[in-house]
Amino acid sequence: MEQLGRKPVGHPAYTVRPRTDEEVLEVVRYAIKAGLPVRAVGAGHSFTPLVQTGGILLDLAGISGITGTDTGRLRARARAGTAISDFGEPLWNAGLSLTNQGDIDKQAIAGALSTGTHGSGVELGSFSSALRWARLINGHGEIVEIGEHDLRELKAAQVALGTLGILLEVELAVSPRYHLAEQITYPTWSETVANWDADIAGNRHYSFLWCQGEESAGLYELPTPRGNPWSTAATPSATTPWTSMKAPISPAPRGPGATAHIAFTPAAS
Ligand SMILES: Cc1cc2nc3c(=O)[nH]c(=O)nc-3n(C[C@H](O)[C@H](O)[C@H](O)COP(=O)(O)OP(=O)(O)OC[C@H]3O[C@@H](n4cnc5c(N)ncnc54)[C@H](O)[C@@H]3O)c2cc1C
Repeated sequence: MEQLGRKPVGHPAYTVRPRTDEEVLEVVRYAIKAGLPVRAVGAGHSFTPLVQTGGILLDLAGISGITGTDTGRLRARARAGTAISDFGEPLWNAGLSLTNQGDIDKQAIAGALSTGTHGSGVELGSFSSALRWARLINGHGEIVEIGEHDLRELKAAQVALGTLGILLEVELAVSPRYHLAEQITYPTWSETVANWDADIAGNRHYSFLWCQGEESAGLYELPTPRGNPWSTAATPSATTPWTSMKAPISPAPRGPGATAHIAFTPAAS
């Protein structure tokens, strides 16, 4: 199975949903004894066969929650299955915010760290780049901690695709809390190109999306611009240059495609 937002799990012999670290450890030790492979799954947003296994699938959704914040050191700890969307409030209450994130916040933090999940912003790194410490179960069935005292190990845990062990808890470098003002506009493709350098340099975040059809707006939770320029969207062929599928939508929206332009600039708190 390979689909957005569904768990591509294959046909595991066992699916286990532990609620405590001890239960995770017990499962890993059982798998080692039985000679079974183990894969961890976060929110299941990957549409690659990364978590498929004929062995034991560990669904870590129950291993979740923020476990600590340190406002002085700008750090936050969370259990591996914590959804990105669950970081906002507890961090805010501690005067902190995630430094960066992508446009979807349903992923588990361990899944996001393991795949290099990122947001936009030329000055900002991915989730993996914010990893400072982790507690995990290794292939010998032992709980180990890795951190800044051994950068070689820490770097191995960044974008490990689930191969290094089962992450139980992680610590991220975070930022003092901040507000963002979001601006969504619908420029033409030539306007997008003309303003490219200035938009990237002048915004904390900048991204643009080719919205080929009405579903594209829904996928990105974008408002549909006046005139609904996507209602006549054509299906691009593999050989069609994608830029040519764009049509001017401003000032009179029409044509087969539209570019949504999202720019974020820091706002006063
Ligand atoms: C609609 C959609 C929008 C997206 N938007 C963005 C975006 O804006 N920016 C971006 O960079 N990416 C984006 N992605 C990609 C997404 O962030 C990655 O697919 C991410 O891995 C999903 O996290 P997850 O919790 O679903 O991980 P899963 O798919 O469940 O797992 C991913 C990997 O992490 C491993 N893993 C999970 N939990 C653990 C654990 N506890 N210990 C060890 N390994 C573990 C798994 O074994 C697997 O290898 C998007 C994906 C979708 C479907």
